[in-house]
Amino acid sequence: MTAVDGTARRLTFANGASAEFDLLAYVPPHRPPRVVRDGGLVAESGWVSVDRHTLETRVPGVYAIGDVVAIPLTLGKPLPKAGVFAHAEAEIVAKNIARTITGQGAPQRFEGYGECFIEIGDGKAGWGGGNFYAEPKPQVTLRWPSWRWHLGKVLFEKSWLYTKM
Ligand SMILES: Cc1cc2nc3c(=O)[nH]c(=O)nc-3n(C[C@H](O)[C@H](O)[C@H](O)COP(=O)(O)OP(=O)(O)OC[C@H]3O[C@@H](n4cnc5c(N)ncnc54)[C@H](O)[C@@H]3O)c2cc1C
Repeated sequence: MTAVDGTARRLTFANGASAEFDLLAYVPPHRPPRVVRDGGLVAESGWVSVDRHTLETRVPGVYAIGDVVAIPLTLGKPLPKAGVFAHAEAEIVAKNIARTITGQGAPQRFEGYGECFIEIGDGKAGWGGGNFYAEPKPQVTLRWPSWRWHLGKVLFEKSWLYTKM
């Protein structure tokens, strides 16, 4: 796909073809923003490489978290790009930077733990979580979908909307 005309609701493709749409659900190619690519931190993978525990880049005192980083796992795939990891990494880096400034608190390490609800519709959700840094492969537990997990997801969402904003 080379262009999207939202007004005319038309897609254009590289081979010259075009197509109309009513509702477009489109995920563009996933890549770091230009400011990161031009910053000289991107490795061969196309993403920023970091220490998997501290999220420090090869430039001392410069950290990268979330989707811009690629953290290789032993099984050959990278740590999934997910909000739960971006969140955990952010807290680790923030605490370590605060510690550098204040000299207080213990050093923090990101240990690869993540979890998420898995919506399946019909008022039900499952749950998956575990240690993605475990070797030789991540140790992830899956919970069978039920209304309880869906309710848990709703409450989790509400806690963000009402207490953290
Ligand atoms: C369809 C979809 C479903 C998903 N579902 C889940 C899920 O169920 N659970 C889960 O954990 N994760 C999920 N994810 C993944 C999750 O959204 C991402 O991993 C997470 O948002 C990454 O956070 P981030 O802060 O690294 O990047 P982002 O959330 O992408 O934030 C980066 C921000 O930087 C801004 N930015 C870019 N360039 C510049 C610039 N030059 N100057 C200033 N700002 C700039 C962008 O506008 C953006 O706001 C999903 C992702 C998608 C696409």
